Amino acid sequence: MTQFNGRTKICYGENAINNLEKLTGKHAFIVTDPFMVKMGFTDRVISSLERANITQSVFDKVEPDPSLETVQKGTVKLLADGADLIIALGGGSAIDAAKAMMYFAYKADPSKGKPQLVVIPTTSGTGSEVTAVTVVTDTAQQMKIPLIDDMIVPDMAVLDARFTRSVPPSVTAATGMDVLTHALEAYVSTPANAFTDLYAVHAIKYVFRYLLRCYRNGDDMEARQNMLLASCMAGMAFNNSGLGVAHSVAHTLGGLFHIPHGKANAVLLPYVIRFNSFDVRDRYRTIAQKLRLPSETVEQGNESLIEAVRWLNVQMGIPNRISDLGIKEDEFHTSLETMSKHALDDMCTKTNPRRPSQRDIRQLLRKA
Ligand code: NAD
Repeated sequence: MTQFNGRTKICYGENAINNLEKLTGKHAFIVTDPFMVKMGFTDRVISSLERANITQSVFDKVEPDPSLETVQKGTVKLLADGADLIIALGGGSAIDAAKAMMYFAYKADPSKGKPQLVVIPTTSGTGSEVTAVTVVTDTAQQMKIPLIDDMIVPDMAVLDARFTRSVPPSVTAATGMDVLTHALEAYVSTPANAFTDLYAVHAIKYVFRYLLRCYRNGDDMEARQNMLLASCMAGMAFNNSGLGVAHSVAHTLGGLFHIPHGKANAVLLPYVIRFNSFDVRDRYRTIAQKLRLPSETVEQGNESLIEAVRWLNVQMGIPNRISDLGIKEDEFHTSLETMSKHALDDMCTKTNPRRPSQRDIRQLLRKA
């Protein structure tokens, strides 16, 4: 039996933010990061909530790759404030922190019921606005821990490109490559199906059409809006199909060396395509064909897809080698055992089309 879950109501386009005024509830708990406050984005959300007669309190201490400690602090405040509405405003970090706070608060006190979760992404990257996933960092273990539960699938996502306009080029690049990795890994994953394929292919086409435009001109609102859609569609795909080894390895690089998630994915993706191509080369060729890349033979299709990903990285100043990510060589080599073990145990490895051994992952890391 195959299932596809697309539960989140998605509002998008110009002034999509005005949909907040139609919300019902008593008290909203806004989870965000300090930058959103500085930019006035939080005030914009508060004004809409006031028009809907909803009171609010704000937790604005989320850092990139949110830690368990931050989530704990937010959970304590959420329980104290009490809320029937949670608004996540920010990139994947703020969204994931909000999801985790909601999860732990509900576990601690289920008596008040599950609040509604409304998500306003301010990066086009994680797709977290439609997924059952949250990633929290255990700083003591230097590990990123994904938690999956249908309860944290957001009820509503507001995709308003005005909130992504200020994203600097380096973050646009990394988050955009995160979208591409989600979509490509979803497309070749073992549970991929007709519905996940639809979302994944559309997202891949949009990344190749709009990402560079966003990177070169952050004020290109058509491109910004379409990258938000691509990110959301890729999220719909992988939420149902799972991901692959690029993500498993990116999680360990993020946990140990704090490499931005999308950047780690971008560097790893070409190596993972090559690793998988023995098993799913026809699938990769199909993507190359859809992108109108040279693909007369299966091999040519696979090679041109790898080259297209590398080309996109180069255009946006993303290196194509892990050694260019600023990790000290000796630290990288002494961590190989830990990294390959963590990546092997990561849940994303389970849905990768080619089942790797720990040795395979070590080799992949060495090659990259
Ligand atoms: P992020 O949320 O960490 O944000 C990166 C930086 O960009 C931050 O400093 C933030 O303040 C800034 N920023 C965000 N929006 C901005 C804007 N509009 N203008 C200017 N600056 C802005 O980055 P991200 O890539 O969106 O999220 C990464 C996190 O999401 C990681 O922890 C990753 O593991 C997780 N993740 C989760 C899922 C999921 O399904 N839940 C999927 C992929 C990744």
